[in-house]
Amino acid sequence: MELRDQAALVTGGSRGIGLEISRALAEGGARVAIVARDESRAQAAATSLPGDGHRGYAVDVADSSRVNPLIKRVGEELGGIDILVNNAGLTRDNLLMRMKDEDWDAVIDTNLRGAFNTIRAVSRGMMKRRSGRIINISSVVGLTGNKGQANYAASKAGLVGLTKAVARELASRGILVNVVAPGYIETDMTAELPEAARQGLLEQISLGRLGQPEDIAGVVRFLAGPAASYITGQVLVVDGGMVI
Ligand code: NDP
Repeated sequence: MELRDQAALVTGGSRGIGLEISRALAEGGARVAIVARDESRAQAAATSLPGDGHRGYAVDVADSSRVNPLIKRVGEELGGIDILVNNAGLTRDNLLMRMKDEDWDAVIDTNLRGAFNTIRAVSRGMMKRRSGRIINISSVVGLTGNKGQANYAASKAGLVGLTKAVARELASRGILVNVVAPGYIETDMTAELPEAARQGLLEQISLGRLGQPEDIAGVVRFLAGPAASYITGQVLVVDGGMVI
C-alpha cells in the first residue's frame, strides 16, 4: 500500500489499459479519479475499484475549458492530485494521402493537447506541494512510426517531447514526469486486427505474446511509487521486446 493517502487522476480510465492502471493504483492504496467522455462508464469503472473514495467524471480532455474546472473539482473532492496518468487516447488510422483534417485534429487534440491540458492544470497544485508524479502513455509507434498512423505516431512522439520538456521544467519542484510506451496490448482499441496481421505482429514480439493491460499497469504503479523517486524524463518501453 505504498500509495496510501495519495490521490490519482487517470484519463481514459473507464476501460482497457486505463482501467487496469486505475485498479493497480487503487491496489497500491490511492484514491482514484477516472475521467472519460462517457459518464456512466467512468462511474461504473470507479465503483469497480478496490478500496474507497474513487470517483468517475465525464470530461473530454481535449477541451481545456472543461479540464481546468475538472482538476479543481477533483482536487477538492479527493484532496489534491498527487499522481496524474495521461492515458486517454484514440486512433483515426488512414494512409497519409487519404487522411482528413478532422482525423488529424481529433487524434492530436485528444492524445497530445489533452495531456498538455491536464499537465498544465495539475502542475500548479503539485508545485505548491513540491511533489507529484505525471505519467504519460505514449506508444512504441511514437518512436518507430507506423504506416497508416501519421496522426497517431505524431501525437505519441509529441508526448515524448512534452514529457522531456516538462520533466526539466518541474524537476526543481519535486515533480517527476515520465513516459510509458506500450507495444501491442489487447484492448478495444486493437480488437479489430485481422488474424494475419496478428500473426505478423506476434513474429515481431520477442516474448511471443501480445501484451495485456496488466503489463502496463504494473509499470505505471512503479513509476508512481517510492521506488521510482530518482527517475524523470524517461521513456519506458513495455512491448515484450518488439523494439529492441
Ligand atoms: P481504449 O480505446 O480501450 O480506451 C480508451 C479510453 O480513453 C477510454 O476510457 C475512453 O473513454 C477514453 N477517451 C478517449 N478519448 C477521450 C477523450 N477525448 N477524453 C477523455 N477520455 C477519452 O484504449 P486502450 O486502453 O487500448 O489505450 C489506452 C492508451 O494506451 C491510449 O493512449 C493508447 O493510445 C495507448 N496505447 C495503446 C496500445 C494498445 O495496443 N492498445 C498500444 C500503445 C499505446 P470514452 O470513450 O468514454 O471517452
